[in-house]
Amino acid sequence: MLTNSEIVNAIHEMRTMFPNAGTTLNGDTTFHFLLATILSAQSTDKSVNMVTPALFQQFPTPESLAKAEPSDVEPFIQSLGLYRNKAKYLVNASRKIVTDFNGQVPNTLKELTSLAGVGRKVANVVLAECFNIPAFPVDTHVSRVARRLGMVDANATVLQIEKRLKEAVPRDEWLDAHHAMIFFGRYQCTARNPKCAQCPLLPVCKYGQDNVF
Ligand code: SF4
Repeated sequence: MLTNSEIVNAIHEMRTMFPNAGTTLNGDTTFHFLLATILSAQSTDKSVNMVTPALFQQFPTPESLAKAEPSDVEPFIQSLGLYRNKAKYLVNASRKIVTDFNGQVPNTLKELTSLAGVGRKVANVVLAECFNIPAFPVDTHVSRVARRLGMVDANATVLQIEKRLKEAVPRDEWLDAHHAMIFFGRYQCTARNPKCAQCPLLPVCKYGQDNVF
């Protein structure tokens, strides 16, 4: 298993490789960014960004979406997987924002995760990106990279991964580290055929060494 300093060094290497890593989801307001993040579950950011401009135009505020029915939302997002469920999430989350939070997207993990379609990862993304509250969202890329590199046990849960990374990485670097790990997972340590032979982290990566040699 990597030590704290080895984890930090590995993430710095990823940041060097991907200095422009950042969010690739579009949203012109906190509310719209929340919607985009809910829609991104099991869909690529690119596919979400293709459908959101028309959706945002039709539903500019929580109040406007709260008045809609899921069937009104489905046509805007039907190119995305699970679109029927996602349409329900968007409407129900908007209704709760209006009734329980005075029309404002809340800014605590507990309140955010009380909204339909918002799990811990979505909530952490919104806290960090919209409210500048330090958080370390763990998605599929972060999980894969952390497990392969031995930052955590191969069977570590998402919660254990988040805890370990927060312990090792300085708090003011959490969001940048999250972005760097996502880009590294998306373009280098890919789910299928990771580019281990050309990876600068091969010397510290047992998974990669087993893959290459
Ligand atoms: S060596 Fe391979 S498995 Fe290890 S971090 Fe690099 S790409 Fe991923």
